[in-house]
Amino acid sequence: MTVSVCWLRRDLRLYDNPALCAAAAVGDEVLVLFVLDDRLRRPAGAVRLAYLYRCLRELDERLSGRLCVRVGDPARVVPEVARAVDAIQVHIGADHGPYGRCRDAAVRRALTSEGRELVATGSPYAVAPGRLHTAAGTPFRVFTPFYRAWTAHGWRAPIAEPAGVRWATLTGAAIPADPDLGDVRLPPAGESAARARLDDFLSGPLAGYAKRRDIPDGDTTSRLSPALKYGCLHPRTVLAALADVADGGADPAAGDAEKFRSELAWREFYADVLAANPDSARADLTDALAAMSYEPPGRTFEAWKWGETGFPIVDAGMRQLLAEGWLPNRVRMIEASFVCKDLHVHWTHGARWFLERLVDGDLASNHHGWQWTAGTGTDAAPYFRVFNPVAQGRTYDPDGTYVRRWIPQLRDVPKAKVHEPWTLPAGPPAGYPAPIVDHAAERRDALARYEAARDAR
Ligand code: FAD
Repeated sequence: MTVSVCWLRRDLRLYDNPALCAAAAVGDEVLVLFVLDDRLRRPAGAVRLAYLYRCLRELDERLSGRLCVRVGDPARVVPEVARAVDAIQVHIGADHGPYGRCRDAAVRRALTSEGRELVATGSPYAVAPGRLHTAAGTPFRVFTPFYRAWTAHGWRAPIAEPAGVRWATLTGAAIPADPDLGDVRLPPAGESAARARLDDFLSGPLAGYAKRRDIPDGDTTSRLSPALKYGCLHPRTVLAALADVADGGADPAAGDAEKFRSELAWREFYADVLAANPDSARADLTDALAAMSYEPPGRTFEAWKWGETGFPIVDAGMRQLLAEGWLPNRVRMIEASFVCKDLHVHWTHGARWFLERLVDGDLASNHHGWQWTAGTGTDAAPYFRVFNPVAQGRTYDPDGTYVRRWIPQLRDVPKAKVHEPWTLPAGPPAGYPAPIVDHAAERRDALARYEAARDAR
């Protein structure tokens, strides 16, 4: 009897899982393995760990308690497990991130030295990073041509859950209990919850998505990012379901399905950019701002982290981040602009705080989202685009519903003042701070710094 190992990492699901199907095709039994790797656990905050453990618990239930969880360095643990069940093949979905690639190379070497094989099938993306190139044969750096090439390339249909598989058993560690989350409310975790959310989104907020996705308060976007992060759902599954809805004539004229597809493509684009430029996980992607002067993260940066800047839309966002581990995209951009352009702090500091607190924290999307706003990344927003927190609040939260939800002190502030409570005759309400910076002055400072950096090139 042959056993094959399926080592899951960012693909915590049974449906549309090519690596699992590949393992099932060659083994009489499949051992499903997850390795708790401290190199990945350390930078993840409590919310992401809790979400991961919940996904693992659901997966374990679906495997009738046969998920084998081990703890330690995969280069040691995976060969140990393969030896224990005498598996010739260990199946994975490819990981194109900087750490994942090194880790998998080390595991492959260790397995090969024992006459075993690491077999990669599929990836967490509809089109695997590294597959698309410009006409000149170089990786893409600009989204729009990437999107054209990505759409033209296409992707295959989802594959069914493998039927009749016999799950092998091997003693493992217990799935850890959730870390202390305090009052944080996490979204439901796991494959079934992800599929249910996809259905709800497609039959609900998708209609109107193109117009409403920037409104921070309300059920306006899919909130599938945590499920996509851990692969409880593959983007191919989402794209196929979306195509069915669009083919069914559900408001295609409004471009909602098309807009949603392009947002999924941003995730694929950033993964492609990171795979081609692994150093962009730590440093500026481009040298456009190599000569830029920054401030060290100090007292004002601390105030930002805890939602105490005195700018309601900025603080509401950071308080939502602390309470839910999630933020709408528009607010993520407002936060990044505030850190980079009002506080003049290098994007890496804000990006690290986001990664620690986000339930969907993803190196490629997070770091490149920050770099896009900072002006150091792909297709960068022009340096003179500095988000005005008051104007952003008025445009996207015109009634102040969002800021009032997260900042109780603003509940009685009239709509006209809710995004600039310091202009009330008596100043900001008790318990809410005055602005920690003068936005107009910081905007001028940011532009001067950008121009100096540009002139120094
Ligand atoms: P929807 O609007 O429903 O979009 C569907 C899916 O498309 C998302 O789940 C996501 O996978 C993808 N997507 C949408 N917008 C983007 C985008 N701008 N870039 C990349 N993918 C996108 N996304 C993460 O998944 N993890 C992160 O750590 C992360 N950090 C970010 C940091 C900054 C500063 C910015 C500006 C954006 C960041 N994003 C990140 C992208 C985006 O904000 C989130 O994916 C989105 O808000 C998740 O909500 P949703 O699932 O409801 O999105």
